[in-house]
Amino acid sequence: MIYLDYQATTPLAPEAREAMLPWLGGPETQGFANPHSPHRPGRAAAAAIEVAREQVARLLPPGGRLIFTGSATEAINLAILGAGPRRIAVPPIEHAAVLDTAAASGAVVDLLPVGGDGVVPAGCAIAAGTSLVAVMQVNNEIGTIQPVEALAQAAHAAGALFLCDAVQGAGKLAAPGNADLIAISAHKLYGPKGIGALWVRDGVSLAPQIHGGGQEQGLRSGTLSPALCAGFGAAAALAVERMAADAAHVAGLWARARAILSGWQLNGSADLRWHGNLNVRRDGLDVARLMSDLRDIAFSAGSACASGSGRPSHVLRAIGLDDAGAKASIRLGFGRYTATRDLEDACARMEATAVAQGV
Ligand code: PLP
Repeated sequence: MIYLDYQATTPLAPEAREAMLPWLGGPETQGFANPHSPHRPGRAAAAAIEVAREQVARLLPPGGRLIFTGSATEAINLAILGAGPRRIAVPPIEHAAVLDTAAASGAVVDLLPVGGDGVVPAGCAIAAGTSLVAVMQVNNEIGTIQPVEALAQAAHAAGALFLCDAVQGAGKLAAPGNADLIAISAHKLYGPKGIGALWVRDGVSLAPQIHGGGQEQGLRSGTLSPALCAGFGAAAALAVERMAADAAHVAGLWARARAILSGWQLNGSADLRWHGNLNVRRDGLDVARLMSDLRDIAFSAGSACASGSGRPSHVLRAIGLDDAGAKASIRLGFGRYTATRDLEDACARMEATAVAQGV
């Protein structure tokens, strides 16, 4: 199996796995203790969580606090519902976690513009009375990098808070230093599934959305998993260390894949992008057939979230593709553990299969 779906999730880094093991907690160890218990094993688990919090915080700007959550989706819900916006501005290419939560918040929702290259213009107007602007750092479907610092400035000038969904950017790019709220997810940066975090700038107050024991500074009740926190922390530390090497590796992979698939059209900007994403289309391509012909290659039809629903991707539609163009698109995602040879083989087989379809 050649795995090319790194925007859906990434493999667990061996270093992260190693860091989790002592905290998985069989009866012969003390790693199962509740980190919120005051006894010695509980305090040891709590200390491991604080080490992890420090490691994850290094991906984020200074001057804020980090709240662990069960996923980035939960972090985004806490940010949006917790801020209680009256009017919220979002581009239509956001992840469903942002779009659906904005819709559910009861706020007036304004859509920001997005260009045909998949980039939100840095100078776009923000309506008077907007209290929250949410823009992602890197798009999960087409990989485009958004001008989040400039958009955060515009949000502040309009008197609004700025939320950045940095799920696809964290550990790969520097976080936007002037955001007020940043959501991230461990499993997109070689950490475990089941844990995310919300970074909250000092002075920003949120209403908790999950009530109970008052953990995570009263913002997110529920017993934390020391194993998941430790894995997240180790993955974050590794990401900091390997940021430049990882970026260079995916840039090389992207160039090879693009050369082999040179007859395919690129969706989204070629330059303003995370190069671990290649979203391409070929007129008339039957993506379902391509996927069934290439069952030993794990890749996605446009978007992992929209695929299976039969609906064309909302992101591809928002950047101007018609239904047929969106349905003829595929998303390849690659990263730290992708071997150049595997990617080359997969792309060559995709090219040959498309040619065999007569497109
Ligand atoms: N935001 C973006 C851009 C994503 O790609 C994803 C996951 O696909 C999410 C949010 C949700 O993250 P999680 O799986 O941690 O809930």
